[in-house]
Amino acid sequence: MTDFDINSLVRPCIQALEPYSCARNEFHGQASVWLDANESPYNAPFNRYPDPLQAQVKAKLAQVKGVEAGNIFLGNGSDECIDLVYRVFCEPKTDNVVAMSPSYGMYEVCAHINDVAYRKVPLRPDFSLDVQALLGAVTPHTKAIFLCSPNNPTGNAIDTLLIERILDQAGCLVVVDEAYADFSSQPSMRHKLARHPNLIVLSTFSKAWASAGVRLGMAFASRAIVELFNKVKYPYNVNCLTQQYALEHLKKLDQLAGWRNAILAERGRLIDALARLPQVLKTYPTDANFVLVKTVDADGIYAHLCREGIVVRNRNRVEQCLGCLRITVGTPQENDAVINAISNYGNK
Ligand SMILES: *Cc1c(COP(=O)(O)O)cnc(C)c1O
Repeated sequence: MTDFDINSLVRPCIQALEPYSCARNEFHGQASVWLDANESPYNAPFNRYPDPLQAQVKAKLAQVKGVEAGNIFLGNGSDECIDLVYRVFCEPKTDNVVAMSPSYGMYEVCAHINDVAYRKVPLRPDFSLDVQALLGAVTPHTKAIFLCSPNNPTGNAIDTLLIERILDQAGCLVVVDEAYADFSSQPSMRHKLARHPNLIVLSTFSKAWASAGVRLGMAFASRAIVELFNKVKYPYNVNCLTQQYALEHLKKLDQLAGWRNAILAERGRLIDALARLPQVLKTYPTDANFVLVKTVDADGIYAHLCREGIVVRNRNRVEQCLGCLRITVGTPQENDAVINAISNYGNK
């Protein structure tokens, strides 16, 4: 994209902000006596504040993800990154964001929390993206477009050529949430950062990396955007336990690949089995670790599964998802359990 000036999109109060300078930011170098941060001298290593910019984790992630460390922001889950898009760029009551619908609920919740208008553009009935409609929803006050690929809850990925067209034509930030990208055959957009200064790619430890409990999310973006996020985030937003965990976990890439392959194999088996059930009207194509299924009676089947101790996500009241349940791919035993339970629904 040409002539893109990130500074013209930043909220004036953030542009002018003098960020909090924490003790760990002000001293650079080697030391053995730390009396600068009112920490306790006891209970090492937990007595010390964590690295506010998570340099070790980012160095390792840079290798694994093929992105420079300076293009990585780490947050308390990718939900923190989503919220930062609003807090850095969107002036309450004035600016807006554009997003596809249905999609991940946090984009809209964060818009409401930040008092920013949320302009929804419906996906087509087959859940493909209408790029003309999306770009048509952009106004002079649109600061960002949220794309989710593969999309939650529909499961399908957006063609990268379409995403690039949006990046070229939008005139605002484009956030591509790739929470499920490890399950997709499509390449990640993070390798296109150099060509698109308005691109923010979100990723997370929560799905393929099997670590939702540790709360670690990533944003890949230009250095300018990463610096803005760093300016606004809580100084110690990623705690030392999470940073230690991430460093260890990033050594287990073979294990992560094994888990992902197991889930992909089970995904195919689960979809085939569900598609054969009379209770299931349709299974939607998926690039994620879940499948959206249209059923004869979403509320009834949901309640039936709950009685069996099986919890799925009822999407019956979500736009364009009438009759739909979203089922996460589990272990072979768990998948058998949900298949059996649904097949028993309606049989007396
Ligand atoms: C699960 C999910 C996330 C992950 O959020 P974390 O805060 O990193 O756990 C992000 N985006 C989408 C679309 C998701 O479904």
